[in-house]
Amino acid sequence: MTTLSLLTVFAQANVGYSSSSAGYNFTYIILFLGIAILSYLVQWNLNSKFKKFSKMPLGNGMTGRDIAIKMLHDNGIYDVTVTSTPGQLTDHYNPTNKTVNLSEGVYNSTSIAAAAVAAHECGHAVQHAKAYAPLQMRSKLVPIVSFASNWITWILLIGIITVQSFPGILLAGIVLFATTTLFSFVTLPVEIDASRRALAWLSSAGITNNSNYPAASSALRSAAYTYVVAALSSLATLIYYIMIYLGRRD
Ligand SMILES: [Zn+2]
Repeated sequence: MTTLSLLTVFAQANVGYSSSSAGYNFTYIILFLGIAILSYLVQWNLNSKFKKFSKMPLGNGMTGRDIAIKMLHDNGIYDVTVTSTPGQLTDHYNPTNKTVNLSEGVYNSTSIAAAAVAAHECGHAVQHAKAYAPLQMRSKLVPIVSFASNWITWILLIGIITVQSFPGILLAGIVLFATTTLFSFVTLPVEIDASRRALAWLSSAGITNNSNYPAASSALRSAAYTYVVAALSSLATLIYYIMIYLGRRD
């Protein structure tokens, strides 16, 4: 989304704004560059943590799959299937068909990183079983957000270029974009709570011990930072579009 933001800063600069907006554009270029660098650092930190903890054995020989099944059963959940999915960091819980999908590296691995990821995804299955409100709200936003993501780039770009003659297009883009910002903020409690449930269970079920618990906790915390940065980036972008809309010449 930051690439889109930078693109629109330049698009806006080229449609002829008064010189007073030049300083304000510059502020946004700095802000978006700052967010881009922060996202890069957070992603780099996550990748290096996972690389490190993927080589650290859990010690009890349980694979990601074993961990997932045990955590589901310990929480009284028997109608969720644990499957393997291709790719890296593709792990997710699918509430529509009740499946915990673990990437191949996690599914078969006996590392501390695999245990943390598997337990985190099962944390989402527990949220679903317990009708955790933020997860329900997030699920309701999914169709709107997937519609928005297909059209948002074009609506916003056309909206910015035509803001002086047809401000309604930009306003429609802003409303659509706001739902994606809301989605990224609703994602925060969902992700943090899933990790909290994962860590509590890993510890209480005796899967982790005092020496490897900090690694599991650190891996999940690094993953949470990426969601925080994504939400802040989305908010900054939303404010930027609102400022363009409010700054148009009537
Ligand atoms: Zn998650």
